[in-house]
Amino acid sequence: MVTNSTIANIYLGAVVTALSASHFEPAVIQIPDGEEHKNLAWLAFVYDRLIDAGIDRGGAVVALRGGVVGDLTGFAAATYLRGVACVQVPTTLLAQIDASIGGKTGINHAAGKNLLGAFKQPRFVLADVECLSTLPRREYVAGLAEVIKTGAILDAELFQLLEAELPALLRQERDLLVRVVRRCCQLKALVVAEDETEGGYRAILNFGHTLGHAIESLTDYTTYLHGEAVAIGMVAAARVSHRLGRCDETTVRRLTQLIERCGLPVDIPSDLGRDALALAMRTDKKALGGTIKFVCLEGIGATRFERLTCEEIVRHI
Ligand code: NAD
Ligand code: MG
Repeated sequence: MVTNSTIANIYLGAVVTALSASHFEPAVIQIPDGEEHKNLAWLAFVYDRLIDAGIDRGGAVVALRGGVVGDLTGFAAATYLRGVACVQVPTTLLAQIDASIGGKTGINHAAGKNLLGAFKQPRFVLADVECLSTLPRREYVAGLAEVIKTGAILDAELFQLLEAELPALLRQERDLLVRVVRRCCQLKALVVAEDETEGGYRAILNFGHTLGHAIESLTDYTTYLHGEAVAIGMVAAARVSHRLGRCDETTVRRLTQLIERCGLPVDIPSDLGRDALALAMRTDKKALGGTIKFVCLEGIGATRFERLTCEEIVRHI
């Protein structure tokens, strides 16, 4: 079982006790907390510990984790002995609704995020929403950005539920949270089942991410959490969609208001110039010959792809 120091302090005892009661003997591998450890050096550390523990092909790797440990552990499971079973136990909202579904695993390279990786579907995912009560508030709210994204691109009914019940969701009311997490998982699983390796349709999940990634990279990944940058990116993407005549103003307003009500940012920081944004988008690994398969919003719950140059995107923001 791979985890990090922060999560181990809170949950390791209970999880090891439960596994032992079912006659498993977990070897625990701890890596330090933080995105900066999602790299080759810590992957090598995990391989070493798996070998030390004598894990064979009949073994399984369990990731007790947020998205960072999940990605690294999933990649270890995909490659160790050419692949062993992997179980994901996500403990952040982002990881429960997004990073544990769909099989994308990997690590960062100095040249960019998630440049090395593999598709590895977990044997199963166990998401317990009660874990979210110990999550820092800011992390929880950032996860809500991906929840809003899911509703905005795929499910008008979910979006309406969020509009109506946001205060209860911010209070983490259990039944509502279960309902929302379950729905987001279903929707993401449907998209992935359609297009596992992102040949086409799966790219719909990039809504808000083209600009979000550019903002994250231009601020050195230190100013915004991923969900916060995606929140800004979604508002910008909705504005671009409106300027291109793809959606009405009400759609842009509903999305912006819901994001604002969470306490998430909506404006591109004023010190980020358009040229810099365009350049950052062009170097994104998903850009192709200077153009982007941009996810436009057509209305709440409806999208279409539009091939745009990076310059066109920033001109319409
Ligand atoms: P994270 O894993 O860094 O977790 C955020 C923080 O919360 C960490 O400090 C963590 O130790 C702590 N934490 C986690 N669970 C906790 C709990 N229950 N109580 C208290 N503290 C807790 O960040 P994240 O937002 O979960 O994931 C971000 C990562 O996920 C990025 O590396 C990103 O690339 C990746 N990601 C992957 C996919 C995918 O499809 N594989 C999708 C989205 C994001
Ligand atoms: Mg994301």
